[in-house]
Amino acid sequence: MITIRIKPRDARKRPLRHPWVFEGELAGNIPNGGVDGEVVLCRDQRGHLLGSGFFNSKSKLIWRRCAPGKVEFTRDTLKARLLQAFKLRQGFHMSGRRQVLRLVWSDSDHLPGLIIDRYGSWLVIQTLTLGIDRWLNDIVEICKAELKPDRILCRNDAPVREKEGLSREMDVLLGNAEPSGQWVDVYGIRMWMDWKAGHKTGLYLDQVEQYGKVAAWAEGRRVLDTFSNEGGFGLACARAGAAAVTCVDSSGTALQVAAKNAAENGLSVNIEEANVFDYFSASRSAAWDLIILDPPPFAPNKRSLIGALRGYKELNLRAFQSLTDGGILATYTCSHHVGHEMLLQVLLDAAMDAGVEVRILESCFQPADHPVILGFPESEYLRGYLLEVRK
Ligand code: SAH
Repeated sequence: MITIRIKPRDARKRPLRHPWVFEGELAGNIPNGGVDGEVVLCRDQRGHLLGSGFFNSKSKLIWRRCAPGKVEFTRDTLKARLLQAFKLRQGFHMSGRRQVLRLVWSDSDHLPGLIIDRYGSWLVIQTLTLGIDRWLNDIVEICKAELKPDRILCRNDAPVREKEGLSREMDVLLGNAEPSGQWVDVYGIRMWMDWKAGHKTGLYLDQVEQYGKVAAWAEGRRVLDTFSNEGGFGLACARAGAAAVTCVDSSGTALQVAAKNAAENGLSVNIEEANVFDYFSASRSAAWDLIILDPPPFAPNKRSLIGALRGYKELNLRAFQSLTDGGILATYTCSHHVGHEMLLQVLLDAAMDAGVEVRILESCFQPADHPVILGFPESEYLRGYLLEVRK
């Protein structure tokens, strides 16, 4: 097997056994493009093995580990990895409560770049690295045999594919070309998922567990669901007996689906198409008993961190100001670079500016179908808090 070597690693910057290697970390000769997409070994300067991983000279992220040892990546390896990932999620399946969940999550399941999401009897697949993209046919065959889905859809329109030298496309790999959407059960709420038009692979699967946690506080409260997308949080609150629910998002398309979801479930929610920052500016009075803040990642990279922290602080400040005494704030960040300490500091700064006392009721974390690998901080990206606010 071809071997690449890396320069000595600065453990403060990146854990020594971190599963990614960037272009600039390589020492010595770089294999030519003929190896792109193949599995190669990686060693550190002392000759210790970092593992076997997908190599792609076209990407800045030049090597991503798929096994800690020396592994020829074969169909059997792929199948074993997939079965392991499915098995981990069996608890979700068995309970019968989860029609929707992430079955495979990229590096966290030792299949860099592969995402497989289950929506009832449909699977939506993404292959976001050249290495895994080459195995797409085998992935489909194994999924067919093991999971017996009615449809397999390939949502490969993510811009990150271009960084791997791959084209952006969407494809039906099993089943009929139509329809593009279906109703799925999300903890007792029927939600419309459109595998082409919905964000990510259809829904924000990483947040569905939070819907119930937040809804548990909603009874009798006036709820503001900001960055609502298709209304998951708001609808769960309405079902739980909220006095009133308003969903705010800047995407008219997502809000149309939110309205369709509300009607399907016989629930009543107000829909407001607006920029959340403007929405808060326009309504300064404390009119809400529960607010959900679930913004998109403001810090996709380290360079954007300072601006991002300013944005998070502003939002949380506005939310604190808009809550009534004893109100609840469910606040999240899905920026990997915004760690727990940073988020706590942002919340403290916002609370001081708003002149409120804040108690942490619950700390929130990404769900078990998006597992975090120790020593791989990039796999941890979603965190939040349920807070009680006293004025
Ligand atoms: N809470 C949602 C996921 C939110 S994703 C769920 O559980 O499904 C982030 C959402 O924020 C997207 O729907 C996007 O359209 C919206 N968005 C991004 N920037 C915005 C802004 N400045 N104002 C309002 N909505 C925004």
